[in-house]
Amino acid sequence: MIEKPSLASTEIIRETLSRPSIFKNEEPLSLEYLPSRLPHRENQLRFLAELFRSVIEKPGTTSPRVLITGDIGTGKTVLAQRFGTDITRTAKTLKLNLLYRHINCREYRGSLFMILKRVLQTFTPTFPQRGFSSEELLQILLDQLDDKNLHIILTLDEADTLIKTEGTTSLYNLTRIQEERPGRPVRLSLIIILRDLRLIEDLDRSTQSTLQRNIIRLERYTPPQLETILKERVELAFKEGTVPEEVVNFVADMASPAGDARFAIELLWRAGKYADTEGAKELKPDHLRAAANSVYPVMRTEYSQHLSHHEKLLLLGLARVLERTNMPYATMGDVEIAYKIACEEFKEPGRAHTQVWKYVQNLSATGIVSTQLSTIGFRGKTTLLGLSTAPASAIRRWLEASLAKA
Ligand code: ADP
Ligand code: MG
Repeated sequence: MIEKPSLASTEIIRETLSRPSIFKNEEPLSLEYLPSRLPHRENQLRFLAELFRSVIEKPGTTSPRVLITGDIGTGKTVLAQRFGTDITRTAKTLKLNLLYRHINCREYRGSLFMILKRVLQTFTPTFPQRGFSSEELLQILLDQLDDKNLHIILTLDEADTLIKTEGTTSLYNLTRIQEERPGRPVRLSLIIILRDLRLIEDLDRSTQSTLQRNIIRLERYTPPQLETILKERVELAFKEGTVPEEVVNFVADMASPAGDARFAIELLWRAGKYADTEGAKELKPDHLRAAANSVYPVMRTEYSQHLSHHEKLLLLGLARVLERTNMPYATMGDVEIAYKIACEEFKEPGRAHTQVWKYVQNLSATGIVSTQLSTIGFRGKTTLLGLSTAPASAIRRWLEASLAKA
């Protein structure tokens, strides 16, 4: 039996939805969103365009095979999609028959058969379910392309899954198939997105070198690069004046160890949701810490077991300062004062500066505390301390409880 919804819960939902949001449009922060510009990937876009120049200028003569590699969130998928969309548009204005297909191998459980069936369904929606091998499907695909005088750029995203499932044979067949059709126009280009390059080590030398000639390696984004990417999304997604610049910088810092743009964008969206839930008028560092915490829980016992009593006191001081100021970072000076107060509170003689400095370094090494040298807004150089993995208030509560027990 389905219970009648309580009035209270419908009220909550209605009240929540009637409140203003700091978002103006969430779509630019979604996973499917294809940005119109790719800051810091312009050179790679240009290189791709060069590789495919002859596909446009002399259709049928060449079929580039390109390898894109890089860590998570370095823009592999978005680079291929942006390129595919734009080159199709260009081809259209030149009245060329060019098709771009982006297939995520993981969605097809790494089966070349399923992948090719999907591609063939573009032409024949009712393409038969069975009765063919993937080699046969590949031949059928090329015949179809011949019939329609079409060139296709096929992107195999997360090709790691394909190789792990089928070995390198599928990749070999895809790369070599056109050589078995001498004299006919070439019609199938490949963009292979692979995280782990070791997976192609057991391909024969010639196929490997075909792929490695056209390799694009995407490096992890640096904090300033993440900032540019984030700023564009903030402008599209949030209402004006709801996301202070230092908060954008903070997101970039949080995501910078991995250089992962996806994590940064997700963090921003989630933090925005926390801000809205609270009815806040702007995004604050603590919303980000809460968002990060929900993705990467830090206050796990593995961490806390290794913290000394004084490190906990110092961390408590830092959490208190951050909670009070609601700023991304606190100065070493302020934290030291708060540490001394915490020491008095827990009846512990405070340690000298050099010792406190060692605590900071330990905490920073475990990743709980992030440190930075100040640049602007402070006289001279001072070390800034931040908490990037959990909300300051949660860390404070957790430490007060754990220190009281000790
Ligand atoms: P990967 O495929 O390497 O894991 P994605 O291409 O999915 O990474 O990128 C992760 C997220 O970051 C996506 O939302 C993407 O739109 C965004 N992104 C990555 N690089 C850029 C860039 N240079 N400019 C704008 N957005 C980017
Ligand atoms: Mg990807």
